[in-house]
Amino acid sequence: MSKIMMVASEVAPFIKTGGLADVMGSLPAALVRAGESVTVVMPRYRGVDAPDFYRLREDLPVWLNGFRHRVDIDACDREGVRYLFVDAPWFYNRDGVYTSGGKDWGDNHIRYAILCLAALAIAREIDAPEIFHVHDWQTALLPVYQKSWFGGDPRLIGAKTMLTIHNLGYQGRFGPSAMGELGLDQGLFHSGVMEYHGDVNLLKGGLLESDWLTTVSPRYAQEIQTAEYGFGLEGLLRERSHSLTGILNGVDYRDWDPATDRFLPANYSPEDLSGKQACKRDLIEYFGLPPEAMDRPLIGIVSRFAEQKGFDLIEQIAGALADEPMSLVVLGSGNAHWENMFRHLTSWRPDKFANWIGFSNEMAHKIEAGSDIFLMPSRYEPCGLNQIYSLKYGTPPVVRATGGLDDTIDGETGFKFWEYHPDALLKGVRYAIQKWFDRDGWQERMRRGMAKDYSWDRSAGEYQRLYAQLLGR
Ligand code: ADP
Repeated sequence: MSKIMMVASEVAPFIKTGGLADVMGSLPAALVRAGESVTVVMPRYRGVDAPDFYRLREDLPVWLNGFRHRVDIDACDREGVRYLFVDAPWFYNRDGVYTSGGKDWGDNHIRYAILCLAALAIAREIDAPEIFHVHDWQTALLPVYQKSWFGGDPRLIGAKTMLTIHNLGYQGRFGPSAMGELGLDQGLFHSGVMEYHGDVNLLKGGLLESDWLTTVSPRYAQEIQTAEYGFGLEGLLRERSHSLTGILNGVDYRDWDPATDRFLPANYSPEDLSGKQACKRDLIEYFGLPPEAMDRPLIGIVSRFAEQKGFDLIEQIAGALADEPMSLVVLGSGNAHWENMFRHLTSWRPDKFANWIGFSNEMAHKIEAGSDIFLMPSRYEPCGLNQIYSLKYGTPPVVRATGGLDDTIDGETGFKFWEYHPDALLKGVRYAIQKWFDRDGWQERMRRGMAKDYSWDRSAGEYQRLYAQLLGR
């Protein structure tokens, strides 16, 4: 058994903006089932609360730049995992997790430094782990502080650090004054460590200082070592390739299984697919698509509207799509340009396009179930969860063959296109639409996807092996 402390900026079901929260909501419990001891540390944002929370520690000493911050630690225990919430209202009791009104909080570097320092204080004052497992730029400072401030602390001697990259596109870049604000030695501000094009790059510091690196799919682990996907850090990642492993994310079938999904108007399984028709009808009625939409494939999208997700390709083929025998329903939010694009498409052709601009877990489940085809034309995709959910929901995905999309989808279960180009996307979608009209062949494809198993236990086993290897066991 290894003793792991995971530190992350979002953890489902407490708070979620994307796939990181899903991973953090499932991996710890899967590790516990496999015999590990796991504590999860996250911020206590506004609204993070539950009846089983209790106060574990008042006024934990967390120091930054000679100032002692007021930090309390709340806790709850679920499925053998201990969740610790860093309660520092000044930093976390706000109306947005990372942003407010579309703009990043100006002190995000300090907010997440406090999270890292609180985790290290918990380790020193309450219970020390053998491995700190941190995630993305928000917690990449932990290995940096551990090495530079606490290297000699007897309570942390021998503790190892692992950093998982969920998305290299977000690196936590701040102006040069951040070094001082984070209490870091100016000696670290050079291109060999945390400096990056004149900025402080928190992820870069973590990539250098962590004992081991992982990404969320094997393909992405290879891709980030190339200029196309490396965001300027490919050289550093190539240097660290001997301690970089790609482990595919799992999914939690307790939440994402059409046979038991409590959000659906009807449940279904590979043995009896009739409920899926009811889900499609419900969706079509809800969105006011015409009844004829039942007789053509319904394409679903659930996504953050970020540049990474391929919406520029969709924009370029939308006109051509309108002429195809299909309807498209999209759930998402983010970049205002794409939000407006989908609103315009709906007002232009309400018989073909429907949208829900916003975030709704319930609607995400309904779209996975009620659609016939799922669309993910990402420019890059570290793992991607929705295409894995869509397999389980009998909704074959059309994906661009990149990262985890390439690792999880094949020609038997979905449709892949390679070139990041609107023509390639349109060809892929047209092919899928055409295949949908072959009803028997389509049901075979659905069943092959539904039979795939991407549950967490296998992925947890791979993390477990890495932990043991890091600890020399
Ligand atoms: P990313 O982490 O890049 O956003 P993933 O596919 O790994 O992409 O994970 C996205 C997760 O967030 C999925 O669980 C998906 O269902 C959910 N999601 C994304 N956008 C929305 C939305 N607008 N409403 C509800 N859930 C969403």
